[in-house]
Amino acid sequence: MTISYNNISVRIHLDRIRDNFTLLRNLATQPIGVIKSDAYGHGLLPVANTLAAAGARTLAVGTVGEAVKLRKGGFDGRVIALLGALTPEEACTCRIGHIVPFVFSLEHLRMISDAATDEAPIPVALKFDTGMARLGFSEADIPAILEALPSLSGIKVSIVASHFAVSDEPEKEDYTREQHATFSRIIAALRTAGQSFEATIANSAGLLAYPETHHELQRPGIALYGANPLHGTANEHLGAGLHPAMDVGTPILQVHDLPKGKTISYGRTFTAPRDMRVAIASVGYADAFSRGLSNKGTMIVNGQRAPIAGRVCMQMTAVDVTDIPKVSSGDTAWILGGPCENPVTPEELAAAWGTITYEVFCLLGLNPKTFSS
Ligand SMILES: *Cc1c(COP(=O)(O)O)cnc(C)c1O
Repeated sequence: MTISYNNISVRIHLDRIRDNFTLLRNLATQPIGVIKSDAYGHGLLPVANTLAAAGARTLAVGTVGEAVKLRKGGFDGRVIALLGALTPEEACTCRIGHIVPFVFSLEHLRMISDAATDEAPIPVALKFDTGMARLGFSEADIPAILEALPSLSGIKVSIVASHFAVSDEPEKEDYTREQHATFSRIIAALRTAGQSFEATIANSAGLLAYPETHHELQRPGIALYGANPLHGTANEHLGAGLHPAMDVGTPILQVHDLPKGKTISYGRTFTAPRDMRVAIASVGYADAFSRGLSNKGTMIVNGQRAPIAGRVCMQMTAVDVTDIPKVSSGDTAWILGGPCENPVTPEELAAAWGTITYEVFCLLGLNPKTFSS
């Protein structure tokens, strides 16, 4: 989906994604670039090309459909589909496109095996649940899996994976360590039974904070885009070298006075406490700029903070520019990032929005994007 009626402009700094990847690679063994959901809103193919040029040999998308887009875009490394192959057609697509599906049930394993030809088995990633309670086999399924494998000549287990629930919360490290202990038992049992594969459990926070969970492959997503998954925690410093790659700006349509006592925007939720000047920025909830930011959040105008005044409208939002000199229509209001000393950070915008950086990126990234390298 692309929104095409707006003035907002999303700029993706691919050089920063490359630098973030390099930083992560230097901490890890082999990071897989996680680029599901249009690379967290940053653009599937531009990000894939950037990561490939920086040395990424494996990329992970969500659906098989996204994996096909990646192949058609020319990526010739390994592609993983984290949501798996859900139909026999998708299983065939995996065979033809050399796409490695995550698999979380025996039923899907059989379906994929049936889609294979005599030439070569289809490589799959077995997904185990170790505490997220979302998708996956459980540790107790191992005997059944080992019993089924000899009859599944169409597949080859090439990766064994699991996913952390709280690796970004150092105060809950006991749970992360428990998940990792379970995962370690699972991979040991499978290896003892003669399977050989690469193991992976670390997401961005796992990669940064738990080196003992790195195994052969790591799966950073959010850190590639420069948000620090450990922001606001005792381990914040571990992600301090990451640089946000998404800047979002929009033109100011008009600047006018708002005398003391006057209200602004729908619902009259903001009353001017003094004689003010306000700028009307061309962005609203139709541009995925949440109405929940009404009277919260700030934008950057001429390098300074301009607090949001009143309700966010469908395509417009007012900001207080009383203390910012020389603001005029046509100037840019920065919603995220901005070319100045104190850009709006993803973490800051997410906090005002009442959500996480992941959702901020995915939603603002629905707008038209330009790319710089
Ligand atoms: C999204 C995702 C990741 C990346 O997680 P981050 O917290 O963004 O690093 C890794 N593994 C799986 C299975 C995912 O779905």
